[in-house]
Parts: sequence; structure tokens; C-alpha cells
Amino acid sequence: MIDPFGRRISYLRVSVTDRCDLRCVYCMAEDMTFLPKREVLTLEELDRLCGTFIGLGVEKIRLTGGEPLVRKNVLQLFRSLGAWIGAKGENGGLKELTVTTNGTQLAGMAEDLYAAGVRRINVSLDTLDPAAFRAATRWGDIEKVLDGIFAAKAAGLAIKINAVALKGVNEGEYDRMLAWCGEHGFDLCLIETMPMGDISSDRTDQYLPLSLVRSRLREHWTLEETDYRTGGPARYYTVKETGRRIGFITPMTHNFCESCNRVRLTCTGTLYMCLGQEDSADFRPLLRDPAVDDAALRAAVEAAIARKPKGHDFIIDRRHNRPSVGRHMSVTGG
Ligand code: SAM
Ligand code: SF4
Repeated sequence: MIDPFGRRISYLRVSVTDRCDLRCVYCMAEDMTFLPKREVLTLEELDRLCGTFIGLGVEKIRLTGGEPLVRKNVLQLFRSLGAWIGAKGENGGLKELTVTTNGTQLAGMAEDLYAAGVRRINVSLDTLDPAAFRAATRWGDIEKVLDGIFAAKAAGLAIKINAVALKGVNEGEYDRMLAWCGEHGFDLCLIETMPMGDISSDRTDQYLPLSLVRSRLREHWTLEETDYRTGGPARYYTVKETGRRIGFITPMTHNFCESCNRVRLTCTGTLYMCLGQEDSADFRPLLRDPAVDDAALRAAVEAAIARKPKGHDFIIDRRHNRPSVGRHMSVTGG
């Protein structure tokens, strides 16, 4: 699948649910209204649509959410997608199946994820301080997440810790987190907050530029440039002292759009061709119409990719303190 700007689309991110067991302050309002079940694709519908993308050349699928691991029977989807790994399809099959999770359910699921074919996971953890964690997630218990992370490590999964840089929340902690990740063999990725969805508080209070974080880290660590890229908005360095990677995700800059290799599917079957644009394609009516066969579904996916825009349009409307993209990150899964 090549889009109109010559980019090969090989990475599909799938939000399998909009629900979550936490309410991170930058992601959700406390009193979120979640979707009625009938609007959410069944696991079979998700599997069929993902299979169509794989048939068209998608090599990497990441399940996300909401919290993907709270979706009932989600392991069934991991297993069916995992069966595509290494399959010699028309386009070579799936190379990687992965997940972004808050880690709360990992302790009981890590081994099953590994058995399904997952080898690397991203776990979101903004702070190592139990009280700050509780405040950032509104009620989360860090012990559950840490147990999950170490269960995943024991199961053989490679781990990247994702932390959103939040002014006044984890601002003083990055040195400690980098050392902790180094000690346990995890990579670390710091993320700038993005203006997505109403969260009933002031986002400009939370914004912390990563350029500042990086220069502060350089006072204590040697960050060596690498050419490791994932096609996304992360820039990676090797931390000389630990040998692990640190990434900085600065989505508000435009410098990654030209290498963008990804599209995002929501749990209702809407495909967003760009995280920072409103244009989308709705696959749910097609999936639920018995007259639409696999060839027609395939043609619809190709038509959507042909509309992928050149770049995103994030603007923080600071004067009105409004998000520039109305949907929450938990809809498209980040
Ligand atoms: N629940 C899972 C988790 O927390 O990892 C997966 C979904 S979550 C929406 C995916 C990632 O998006 C998390 O690392 C989260 O911290 C990040 N995120 C959520 N809202 C964000 C925002 N407004 N700006 C930047 N990152 C955000
Ligand atoms: Fe849930 Fe992840 Fe959003 Fe936190 S960032 S509220 S864990 S979906």
C-alpha cells in the first residue's frame, strides 16, 4: 500500500476498546461516557479487518485503546492475529504483533501474550512515585503495574516504558526513571502532551517541552545519536551509561510526517489516516453488510489509504484552551 505521497503503509494501530480502568488526567475526563457495545466491532470483525490490512502489506500491528487488556477475551484476538506472523501471504505476512498497555492486567496475561507471538510491549508509566502515580491516573495502584512489568520481563517480553512529560507531575523524575530502566533492561520513551479531546482541565499547565527535558538529562547522561527510526515521531538516542535507548516523541513538530508509515483504526471500525487530522473512513457498515465480500473490503481499504493526508494539523488553541483535535487519544490509541 503506497499512499499519494509515496509512503509505504506497513503499520496499523488498532484501538480495541475505548474503555479503561484508569483515568489519566491528560487522557480522559473523570466522568467519561463510553461507547455502547453494539457500536464496538466484535473481535471477529476486528480480526477480519486486520487480516485485510495484512493482505495489503501491513507488517506490524499494535493493539492499543483505551486499555486493550481490559477488553473481554482480547487474548483471542492476539492469538488469531499472532497466527499471521511469518505467514507467507501475498505481501509477506505479519512481522510483528505488539501492544501498548497501562500494565494493570499484565501480571496475569504476560505469558499468554508471549505464547500468542508478542515479543515487545510498551507499558505506560509516567512516574515511579506511588502517590504521583495515583494522582496522575486518578486512582491507579503502581504496585499492580510494577508486578505486571516484571511478569512481562520474566515471560521474555522486551519492554519500553512510555512516560508523558508533565510539568509539576514527573518533571523531577526523568534521571531516576532513566536509571531504573537501565537497571532492568528497559528502553524509555518520553512523550510530549498532545491537545486531544476535552479533559476538563487546562492543558497549557501540563505542557513541558522535551527539548528542555533532553538538555537537562544531558547534564548527567551521555545521549548518543542513533539512526534508529520507527517511522513515527520518536527520535532515539543510546544512553552510553546504560546501553539502553531513550526516545523523545514530539508530535507537535512536523519533521516526521514525510516518513509516516502508519494508520489508526478505532474500536468502532473508523480508520484515521492521520492522528492529527479529522478525515476518516468508516468500515463498520461494510463489515456488517453481508453483500460486502473480501474483495470489496480490500478495495475500500485501498481507497482510504489513497486519501492519507500529507501531514498533521495540530495547533493548540491556547487562547480558548481548546484541543485542536476533538477526539480523545483513547479513541485512536495514540
Ligand atoms: N491504555 C494504554 C496505555 O496507557 O498505554 C494504551 C492507550 S494510551 C491512549 C496510549 C498512550 O497515549 C499512553 O502512553 C498515554 O500516556 C498516551 N497519551 C494519552 N493521552 C495523551 C495526550 N493527550 N498526549 C500525549 N500522550 C497521550
Ligand atoms: Fe487509560 Fe491509557 Fe488513557 Fe491512561 S493513557 S486513561 S491508561 S487509555
